[in-house]
Amino acid sequence: MSVFSTDILKNMDAYVPGEQPQDKSYIKLNTNEFPFEPSDKVKAVVTSEKAADLRLYSDPTCAVLKKAIAENYGLKAENVFCGNGSDEVLALSFLSFCKKEDTVVFPDISYGFYPVFASFFGLDYKEIPLKEDFSIDENDYLSDCGTVYIANPNAPTGLTLSTEQIEKILINNKNHIVVIDEAYCDFSDCTAIGLIKKYNNLLVVRTFSKSYALAGARIGFALGDSEIIADLEKAKYSFNPYNLNRLSIEIGAAAISDREYFEKTVAIIKENRQALTDGLIKLGFTVLPSGSNFVFAKKDGEDGEQLYLKLKENGILVRHFSKERIKDYLRITVGTKEQNDALLNALGRIVK
Ligand SMILES: *Cc1c(COP(=O)(O)O)cnc(C)c1O
Repeated sequence: MSVFSTDILKNMDAYVPGEQPQDKSYIKLNTNEFPFEPSDKVKAVVTSEKAADLRLYSDPTCAVLKKAIAENYGLKAENVFCGNGSDEVLALSFLSFCKKEDTVVFPDISYGFYPVFASFFGLDYKEIPLKEDFSIDENDYLSDCGTVYIANPNAPTGLTLSTEQIEKILINNKNHIVVIDEAYCDFSDCTAIGLIKKYNNLLVVRTFSKSYALAGARIGFALGDSEIIADLEKAKYSFNPYNLNRLSIEIGAAAISDREYFEKTVAIIKENRQALTDGLIKLGFTVLPSGSNFVFAKKDGEDGEQLYLKLKENGILVRHFSKERIKDYLRITVGTKEQNDALLNALGRIVK
């Protein structure tokens, strides 16, 4: 740290993103990217004319993108907020809704950015342990003591809460926003979006990074009651009004409008997830039931970090977390059939 750094910066740990190696090419199953290219309609957006237009600022209202998102979910543009990746949406939600006198609440094993944002904004937070089977007990989130953050499906477990469980949390936190981070929701059967019209304290956060094959475009969004969306807009206009670049605004709109490609490719991932799960079980792994585009798996008698390192030697990247409770697990992104087979073959050689 420099002598100039603030106490906040000195006293916090930054988020550590998954490895993004720029040197050699791996079979990359470590950061839950989509293994297929984005839709042709997305690729058609990136013309040299559009590149030439980059001299102009982007539309700070993201009108084209908001309209496409609103239409997709049967909502109005005033119910949609767009961000530079959902990480930015989440950050602005911390700034907008987490009050100093409150305690932010989230599970002890979940998206690693929640405690980082809490520290970054100088907020107290409470991590609630998952149950023995790694599921979330909704009854642990009824205290109404601060903003609640729940990733559904959860990361890195892949486990999903039902809409009824989410609704119970909403009913019992009337004085605080409940943020449901649905980064992986398109790979499951549940979403809280249907509850938005009923609960003004619900903010659903989504991303184009996973199910739309657009991690590199940095497009995220939030859906909620128009009043809380207006709060996020105020925060954005106080921070980075042109938060989405011109290309990403159009790319996002093109991606979400191509329902056919989206449904076709997401269906393949779900099929591949089942095959990958079956293959891992055949090798003796325990695999949690996943509603996402990754599986969380371990094998008794195998050290998670060693498995991760040996796979890396074999040119395959998966994600390992050193947190005690999950240190023997690997989080493996569901890839193409070929990628998954390569992973299973390598594991077959590595495990005892
Ligand atoms: C990937 C992920 C995000 C961040 O997505 P971006 O839109 O790429 O910033 C947010 N929450 C969870 C749970 C994620 O896994």
